[in-house]
Amino acid sequence: MITRQFGIPVTSPGAILRREKDLGTPLGLETAEMLQRGDLVQDNTIVKLIEDWLHLHGGYGFVFDGFPRTLPQAESLALILTGLKTSLDAAIWLDVSEETVRARISGRLQCRTCGFTTSVDSAQFANRPICPYCEGRLERRSDDDLGVLQTRLREYNTKTQPLAEFYGKMSILRKIDGNRDRDAVFADISRIIEDKVPA
Ligand SMILES: [Zn+2]
Repeated sequence: MITRQFGIPVTSPGAILRREKDLGTPLGLETAEMLQRGDLVQDNTIVKLIEDWLHLHGGYGFVFDGFPRTLPQAESLALILTGLKTSLDAAIWLDVSEETVRARISGRLQCRTCGFTTSVDSAQFANRPICPYCEGRLERRSDDDLGVLQTRLREYNTKTQPLAEFYGKMSILRKIDGNRDRDAVFADISRIIEDKVPA
C-alpha cells in the first residue's frame, strides 16, 4: 500500500526470505526451516540481506516493515546508513495487544506468489481463495500456527521491546495504536510518511 501511494520501495525480512526460499537458495531453505520452528533468523543474516536490498533499491527513500527487530539489528542498520550518508526519518511503532495478534494470526491468508495478505473473514475469499492481483493461491502461512506464537511473543518482549528506548533517544519514535482496522492504521502511517516526503 505504501509503495502504491507514495512510490517508496518497501521490504521486510519475511519478503526477502520467502523470495530466497522460492529461488531455492541454501540460505532460503535453511531459514525456512528455522521460521517453521518459530525461531528468529540470525541478526547478521537479516542485516546482510537488508544491506544488499538497500544498495539495489534504497537510493531514493525506503520503508522497512518488521525490521529492525532487535537491538543488534538496529545498531548495524545505523552503521550501514551512516556509510550511505543517510539516516532514518522515523521509526513507526505499532502498538498491538496480544489478543489482537492472536486473532490476526489465526485468520490470515497469504498469496503464495505475490505475498498479498488478507483475512479468512473476508467473505470475498472464503469460497474462492484466489489472489485478486495475480490469481495465485491464497494459503495460511505455515509459520502461522498459534503454537509458534508463544515463542514469538517471548522473543518480542526480550529482543524487540528495547528498540522503543533506542529510537526514543534518537527522537524518531512514533507510536500508533495498531489495534484498529487496517484503514485507520494506514491513515496514521501515511500521515507520518507525508510529513517526511519532500514535496
Ligand atoms: Zn498474488
